[in-house]
Amino acid sequence: MILIFLGPPGAGKGTQAKIIEERFAHRQISTGDLLRAHRAGKTALGREAQSYMDEGKLVPDGLIIRMMEEEIKTSSNVILDGFPRTVAQAVALDQLANSKGWSLPQAILFDVDESVLMERLVGRLTHAASGRTYHSTFNPPVVAGLDDVTGDALIQRPDDKEETIRTRLAVYKDQTEPLIEYYDNPASGRLTSVDALGPIDDVTRRIERVISVREIPQRP
Ligand code: ADP
Ligand code: AMP
Repeated sequence: MILIFLGPPGAGKGTQAKIIEERFAHRQISTGDLLRAHRAGKTALGREAQSYMDEGKLVPDGLIIRMMEEEIKTSSNVILDGFPRTVAQAVALDQLANSKGWSLPQAILFDVDESVLMERLVGRLTHAASGRTYHSTFNPPVVAGLDDVTGDALIQRPDDKEETIRTRLAVYKDQTEPLIEYYDNPASGRLTSVDALGPIDDVTRRIERVISVREIPQRP
């Protein structure tokens, strides 16, 4: 079953997706990571996405939907991190699931107080090649400035600066928050809210509880 991690930038979706995919037979697909790889590879999509990303705006639906249809072609055992972000994307995802005969995607909403997001995002450190993230205070790497796994230098994402973060948070409110209602209607019951405040391990435990109720198999 397709699992969607829904929530504002900085809610901890990527952090948790990377932990959860180690434990469950579900692979993380981060649209942000995919787009950054396209940019690094200077593909046509990467070039088209660039200005939107730099400004903190959403890349047009058509481009994103095509990219994701390609990515989710073969298996529904995925955690979607950063997708869908608009109602049009959510509708396209449901259509994809239907066309494959998969059950409809389920969403986990990361419930966070807005006041924590800026601090989380300005302190975020990213390993560009893998998308692994750290935080200078809340989740520091073992050696300052270096990725724990590869030893590569960590970067600060160019869109993790205050002004762009403000735009991204406004875009979330305007274009992505309506998805809460899309998934949370009594008829479909497709949304579970998880408290995403507090230590990373505590949040993981809460997500694992939701996932086990949904009977997603663990890795052997
Ligand atoms: P998202 O993928 O939702 O944008 P991230 O997972 O990248 O968010 O997390 C944003 C920042 O907040 C990162 O620097 C991460 O280390 C940090 N972070 C994640 N979860 C927590 C938490 N529970 N408490 C404090 N900081 C966190
Ligand atoms: P993220 O890594 O999820 O914070 O995404 C970084 C940027 O990539 C966003 O600010 C958008 O510009 C773009 N992006 C990522 N996912 C999507 C999406 N589903 N729809 C549109 N744009 C996206």
